[in-house]
Amino acid sequence: MILAERLHTEDNVARELIETEHLIGILQLKASRLAAELSATRRWDSEGYNSAGDWMRFKCQVTNTVAWDRIRVGEELHRMPESEQAVYDGEIGYAHLKVMARTAEVVGAKFDELMLLPLARDTSPGKFYYKSLHFRHAVDAKAYCAEQTELVENRRLSLSTAEDGCLLVSGVLDPVGGAAVRTALEPLARKSGAGDDRELERRYADALVELACGGKPANLHVTATIETLKGMVGAAGGEMEFSLPLSSSTIERMACDCSVSRVLLSEESVVIDIGRSRRVIAGPAKRALNARDGHCVWPGCERPASWCDGHHLVHWIRGGSTDLDNLVLLCHRHHWKVHEGGWQLVKTDDRDIVPIAPTITFGRGPD
Ligand SMILES: [Zn+2]
Ligand SMILES: [Zn+2]
Repeated sequence: MILAERLHTEDNVARELIETEHLIGILQLKASRLAAELSATRRWDSEGYNSAGDWMRFKCQVTNTVAWDRIRVGEELHRMPESEQAVYDGEIGYAHLKVMARTAEVVGAKFDELMLLPLARDTSPGKFYYKSLHFRHAVDAKAYCAEQTELVENRRLSLSTAEDGCLLVSGVLDPVGGAAVRTALEPLARKSGAGDDRELERRYADALVELACGGKPANLHVTATIETLKGMVGAAGGEMEFSLPLSSSTIERMACDCSVSRVLLSEESVVIDIGRSRRVIAGPAKRALNARDGHCVWPGCERPASWCDGHHLVHWIRGGSTDLDNLVLLCHRHHWKVHEGGWQLVKTDDRDIVPIAPTITFGRGPD
């Protein structure tokens, strides 16, 4: 297809899409008016439904939200004639009108269509909703504050441990508290380099754990035997408050930069405070490591040094030293990959760090 012809086709598609959405908006207006009328007749009551919204859910096959949006818009139309006209004229969409109706309902007599309509014309529906909140604050700061306070009152966070030890998290945070959490999590939830194929939800989960572990010296009390730390066959798991027994790989990672406060060596039943031993990567050693690596050394990862652990290329438990030569910076996720995930880090002659994926052994016949 030649270019002019293709552009012509694209133009047609674009125009037709805009026209179709405009027509849908006008139909939604009509449905809103009818929905409000039906709600007022109480026909739904005589037919045995709890509410007009319920009636619509079953008779019109729409969701609860759609039903109540229609009714609300229909009921508020008399207070926003100019906005209704703007939908007919294609200046704003039905989505703008929903925001408008919601605002009218909340602020009552203080509603002023003419203050909001110019904003609706200039912004997308999402942005318009945001601006409508400013309007609500402007016309009745006290009521807005009360609303926000109510949102804070609804806050909750539930943490429950499933049978397999996983932590189930669910909850609701008020807008301000939520924003604080997002601000802390978002930078940590960014993709860490090429090949990071984690979905957003998984990155949020990792970010939350990283937030809990990183940035400051973790103060996790872990107890484990030397056998566990060495990964010896028959050793019991390690222990940490709020957790099921930890695997030896996890203990090994935690002990790697001594972010745990102590490990109990049960052979002689002595508590060795690793945090104060010479193996700890702190002070000048940590500063030198931060200066040399700058960020996580995993190719493509740029988590800053302050969020990284010091990793012993040869673990101290296997005789590795805590000299700069044996240390690299790894972010929480990549440190996990190396210890629990079975990856290996190899230092090339050019002092580059190359990660080697775990060898896949399953499916191999007996040899
Ligand atoms: Zn390590
Ligand atoms: Zn990393």
